[in-house]
Amino acid sequence: MTFAATGSRSVLFVKRKILLRDTCRLFSTNDIVLADQGKPPSKKRWSKSHKKLPWTDGLSWEERLADVVTPLWRLSYDEQLELKQNHQERILSQLSEHLSRDSQSSTPVRGKLSFPVLPILPSPVRDGYRNKSTFSVNRGVDGNPKTVGFYVGTGKEGNIVCINGDHLLNMPEKHKLVARCYQDFVRLSSLEPCLLFHTGGHWREVTVRTNKEGRTMAIVYFHPQMLTPEEVAVHKADLVDYFTRGPGSVCQLDSLLFQESSMTRCTHEDSPYQLLHGQPHIYEEVLGFKFRISADAFFQVNQAAAEVLYGTVRDLCVPKSEESGGGTKVGGTLLDVCCGTGAIGITVSPRVDRIIGIELIEQAVQDAKHNAALNNILNCEFIPGKAEVVLPGLMSRLSSTGGGLTAVVNPARAGLHYRVVRALRNQPSIHRLVYVSCKPDGEAMRNFRELCCAPNLQKKLTGEAFSPTLAVPVDMFPHTPHCELVLLFESFGVLFYKETRLESARALLLQKPSFRAKMTETETRNHRAGKQQNGDAAAETSTVEDVFDDTYAEKEGPKPPRTLVWRNIILMSLLHIGALYGLIAIPSASALTLTWTAVCYLISALGVTAGAHRLWSHRSYKASFPLRVFLALANSMAFQNDIYEWARDHRVHHKYSETDADPHNATRGFFFAHIGWLLVRKHPDVIEKGQKLEMVDLKADKVVMFQRRHYKLSVIILCFLVPTLVPWYFWGESLVVAYFIPGLLRYTVVLNATWLVNSAAHIWGNRPYDKNINPRENPLVAFSAIGEGFHNYHHTFPFDYATSEFGCKLNLTTAFIDLMCFLGLAKDCKKVSKEMIIARIQRTGDGSNKSG
Ligand SMILES: [Zn+2]
Ligand SMILES: [Zn+2]
Repeated sequence: MTFAATGSRSVLFVKRKILLRDTCRLFSTNDIVLADQGKPPSKKRWSKSHKKLPWTDGLSWEERLADVVTPLWRLSYDEQLELKQNHQERILSQLSEHLSRDSQSSTPVRGKLSFPVLPILPSPVRDGYRNKSTFSVNRGVDGNPKTVGFYVGTGKEGNIVCINGDHLLNMPEKHKLVARCYQDFVRLSSLEPCLLFHTGGHWREVTVRTNKEGRTMAIVYFHPQMLTPEEVAVHKADLVDYFTRGPGSVCQLDSLLFQESSMTRCTHEDSPYQLLHGQPHIYEEVLGFKFRISADAFFQVNQAAAEVLYGTVRDLCVPKSEESGGGTKVGGTLLDVCCGTGAIGITVSPRVDRIIGIELIEQAVQDAKHNAALNNILNCEFIPGKAEVVLPGLMSRLSSTGGGLTAVVNPARAGLHYRVVRALRNQPSIHRLVYVSCKPDGEAMRNFRELCCAPNLQKKLTGEAFSPTLAVPVDMFPHTPHCELVLLFESFGVLFYKETRLESARALLLQKPSFRAKMTETETRNHRAGKQQNGDAAAETSTVEDVFDDTYAEKEGPKPPRTLVWRNIILMSLLHIGALYGLIAIPSASALTLTWTAVCYLISALGVTAGAHRLWSHRSYKASFPLRVFLALANSMAFQNDIYEWARDHRVHHKYSETDADPHNATRGFFFAHIGWLLVRKHPDVIEKGQKLEMVDLKADKVVMFQRRHYKLSVIILCFLVPTLVPWYFWGESLVVAYFIPGLLRYTVVLNATWLVNSAAHIWGNRPYDKNINPRENPLVAFSAIGEGFHNYHHTFPFDYATSEFGCKLNLTTAFIDLMCFLGLAKDCKKVSKEMIIARIQRTGDGSNKSG
């Protein structure tokens, strides 16, 4: 972004300050005074002219109001997102600092993040997105006390001015219309408005709620003062008449409610909402589920963004193992703490066996139960009460039930009670916790630290510590500084890593993990931070350094000379001549031999794609011991360097894509990216960066290290002897044909198919996900490399086990992994949510996507 004039720079400066202000509740309560910055300029301010606030500069009232309600309105949406992203990253790097200080493992580095932060997910609707607005009644700019709109100024200072909000960017037309009609009505009424509550008068705010379909509910608040019920009834009748038969009928209200409130803020219990006209509720839909909106029910203020938020939360709570329209069942129990009206639990319910929600507000629990019933959901249970009271008892009950236990918390800004944190943390079956916060730098920060600190007997925090592994900001409130932050915490005392613990602990001590600070071009994954146990550096670490690093710069000056490696040139030439001979010999091979060749092709390709690539380079899913043994054998059959070396080269390829440090830098042309890179000495940067890579996870994997130790022997047996001897021994194929077709030809074709991913898929094809990077979508490569040709997607989301948005389409490797999951041999497949993909397509795609 560029700011030409100093004037706009000062606006930005002010916005940044406002950003830190706490205005989460704007609009959400009836009596909050919107602005305290609306004071007339004091002498002091005038004297510091260079720091002049914009509204002291002869701004219109409308601009002043917009500066308060939608402080970012002068910025483009991209600039707004950048501002929010930076703010969230600042908070999260503070968190990283706190956590490394708390664990005393390493000296905290200022501004460094120990876990990835995804780019903020934008709101699908930017203007007029609010589904609930509350308009006040007060003195307007012209002095008319019957003005409906929003305040600027404070009651204390006596400088309140009420301005209609018609120009506010976040306000939908329907809300403006109802506010205008209400103003007309109040001006026609013989009763006075209730301006400052203690000064008498009757007409108070109006709240307008709408849903996606445009159904509208209006709630009028009225102070009865000394009026008798009969007198109030007359005015109620006037109101109904105005909105149903009079000029207000243009609003086409579906629901008109009335509350006689003699207190600043009344609940339904204090003074019931009276239905004057239409339906008592309207309904909103999120992710295909219906929610009842009653007069005071909580609901996210931006329906479209709520879908993004709940979709993100759902995918982080219960990652889908398969793409199938949101219905894939994963199982286990989801604990929804501070569940409100049940939106998170209900949207996650199809994926788990059971939902347990806890909520303090009785009315919200009733709504949650109603919403579950409305959607025919039977596996949700909602418990009223304080989470700190309910949870400890519930935990002892839950520990005996089977299946996984995941927790999601979405507390108010006061954060979670420490007893709630304690109960969650001390429950050994919770390994995954999703924290949703609209103010992560406040009390939530204390919660984060309690979740992640080393076990502390004094604080009764005995359970294993959590680590933050992924943060996703979601923009719910365009034009304002606010956004929601979804933080994933994980603890890793999990079965899968048990065997690797000791070795990785040793490796950790030898090699301090250096985590990538900022994730830029590549959407990133659940990096696992080094973990603390009883204050010692211990347990497992599997950082996957496959994320693009835009901080690396190629060295200046002449490139190092190209040194040919003659041994490789000769071997590769001989191999291709042999393969050519195999090609010519095909007519003389038996059908069985050709089938065998295809089988060998598939097995060796899987050893590369499902094994070295998706499992070991990217850690995109978890494989059981037998599956890893199979993949390691298959990998030896493919003979493309051992798994450890392959994964190291591949992580360097992702991290330093298309630079000198990329082993097959595609900017050096097709031939180099395809095979040339194997025929010359590596660029010194490839070696240097490769050595610095985090490979602890592979060093700790016994299967990988065993294959590396016995690589040569395994290649001779699996790549050459087995493919040759099987056809000869079992169906009497000639040794020559068996050696040249299932042996050399098959080996050469697999090699070339793999290389096409580095060459063709970096040069030819569309870039629907990120037009700023070279890797492309290439269906031909996808076909030959059994699923690895969706390369623009793969470099954008390297942690997705399917390496594609489209599941098993042209993607045998994904089908294979799915089958392994079905057989119980693999699990925890990482998948990018549809919402995240669409957001990314909109942000950086080249416009050629077909995902719809
Ligand atoms: Zn690539
Ligand atoms: Zn990759």
